[in-house]
Amino acid sequence: MNLKTKTILAALVAVCLCTFAGYQAGRTSAERKAAEAQATLYQLNRESISGLSAEGTIYVIGHKSPDSDTVCTAIAWARLLNMLGYEAEPAITMPVNNETAYILKEAGVETPEELPDAAGLSIFLVDHSEYAQAAEGMTDAHIVGILDHHGVGNVYTGHQIMYDARPIGATATIVWLNYMNYGLEIDKETAYLLLGAILSDTANLTGTTTTEADRAAIPALAEIAGVTDTEALYAALHAEALSYAGKTDEEILFGDYKEYETAGVKYGIGLVNALNDEIAAELAVRMKAALQEYADTRSADLMYASVGIRENNEKIDYIVPADEYSEQVLKDAFPDYDEYNGTAYIFRTGLGRKTKFVPGLTDYLNAHPHE
Ligand code: MN
Ligand code: MN
Repeated sequence: MNLKTKTILAALVAVCLCTFAGYQAGRTSAERKAAEAQATLYQLNRESISGLSAEGTIYVIGHKSPDSDTVCTAIAWARLLNMLGYEAEPAITMPVNNETAYILKEAGVETPEELPDAAGLSIFLVDHSEYAQAAEGMTDAHIVGILDHHGVGNVYTGHQIMYDARPIGATATIVWLNYMNYGLEIDKETAYLLLGAILSDTANLTGTTTTEADRAAIPALAEIAGVTDTEALYAALHAEALSYAGKTDEEILFGDYKEYETAGVKYGIGLVNALNDEIAAELAVRMKAALQEYADTRSADLMYASVGIRENNEKIDYIVPADEYSEQVLKDAFPDYDEYNGTAYIFRTGLGRKTKFVPGLTDYLNAHPHE
């Protein structure tokens, strides 16, 4: 290479470097402006909840018969509140189910403590806003906020609260959106918790309440959590949800149990998962016995166990009434059942608790007030 060539090459390199530097400088300035605007927005979002007035620790807690969305959301939301400078702790109402225990173990996160009595404490409710589903003493608690994806319940406060409810697949998705709104980093553990909760609550994005936000959350959280196969994770969760290993009949019946009230009638429905018809029929018999044994310990007038089989997009439900009154109401409100096997009324196209069972009972009870 002669001197002339070297000079030309050096000049070319210099021009390239100068262009690149200029380009970088221009980009940096535009980017800096965008970053500053973003930082201002994050700051405003964070300060938007600076009015939360809590005495002592804020306990973040979900509903009774906790599911994975309720437990994982409580933990992730308490962590977010901590990042915003609040003293917050997650709590649970009752022991967690096998699926939630699996998520916590895989995430490497400890199970939150049970809160025996909420009276007098500062509380942030997640995944519900109904006293009947809340921890004991909630009517005497100081509720500072609600994060939810259900209908508005009967929780009342006279003071200002933060209330973020959206028609979305999981409360955990609302938590994810808020981490972004506040410009806060999600750590690996928290990402795993939120991912597990969303997969569970949306039944791997197949549930009817699933939104684009839930769909976007899955890959984003999976990347942070280091989960390469979310289908496999959902399959593992589903297997845990079907496993009642080490659970008593009472624990199975009340593992996913919710109470409601319509026209002065209180009713409770416990959901139980089964793998196939044979297991569903078996569980129905066990739940019938459990209903008869434990119905008196509950304040409900009507009680049911709903043993469900979910395969692909098909849903079959075995509805087991606790007593004669529960059975009569069931037959009157839902005369279109496909079969009665001596224990359970079988609905071969499903009788989903949120979508059909509760709305149907609400209509029936309003039209036929109990004497
Ligand atoms: Mn829930
Ligand atoms: Mn939920």
